[in-house]
Amino acid sequence: MEIERLQKVMANAGVASRRASEKMITEGRVKVNGKVVSELGTKVSPQDVITVNGHVLEREKKVYYLFYKPRGVISAVSDDKGRKVVTDYFTAITERVYPVGRLDYDTSGLLLMTNDGELANKLMHPRYKIEKTYLAKVTGIPNNDALKKLRLGVKIDKYTTAPAKSKIISTDQKKKKALISLTIHEGRYHQVKKMLAAIGYPVEKLRRSSYGFLTLQGLVSGEYRPLTRDEVERLK
Ligand code: URA
Repeated sequence: MEIERLQKVMANAGVASRRASEKMITEGRVKVNGKVVSELGTKVSPQDVITVNGHVLEREKKVYYLFYKPRGVISAVSDDKGRKVVTDYFTAITERVYPVGRLDYDTSGLLLMTNDGELANKLMHPRYKIEKTYLAKVTGIPNNDALKKLRLGVKIDKYTTAPAKSKIISTDQKKKKALISLTIHEGRYHQVKKMLAAIGYPVEKLRRSSYGFLTLQGLVSGEYRPLTRDEVERLK
């Protein structure tokens, strides 16, 4: 951890947004090493003890993991129905990571896990248009016209999807099923399932195989690996 602005440290620790943290500082609710700091230019180092409303701020080293989420796991840190959640796989680390975005309960594949709130928010923002590739096993065998619809954008709910890249990977003529890849940069709720259902090919199984330049290479379902420093820099 390096020397950083107080409001950034607060935002990263999940206290509030940067803007709201600035407000808390100017209101005199934040102390550094026991002294109220009400100016916004203040920088703090990892050794400084920060309190917000009298509570010591937990400061963690930022960590980044690429996780191969299995099917049947919730993309959250807890579940009120007691189902398995992605953080159950991270009990060996001390930092409190959470998922960057979500994959459905029955979808497997690449999920980033981090405690860096700032980067997570950035990556999830539609402005960054990060490409995600999904492998979908569908009922039926789409023809070129069907794939063209995906490339042009399809109507789901009241909205037309941005053009997606799509191709057939393999087909099973006997069972009338196909494996197709679909690359999108949006992240609407159930988007891939809805897109494929909209063109008449319902999804039976779904896996996210890549996220931007990151792939699942070298991992099996349920495994994770830390991102390299280089990979983190490329994401930022
Ligand atoms: N699209 C879906 O339909 N489900 C996912 O989990 C991800 C993308």
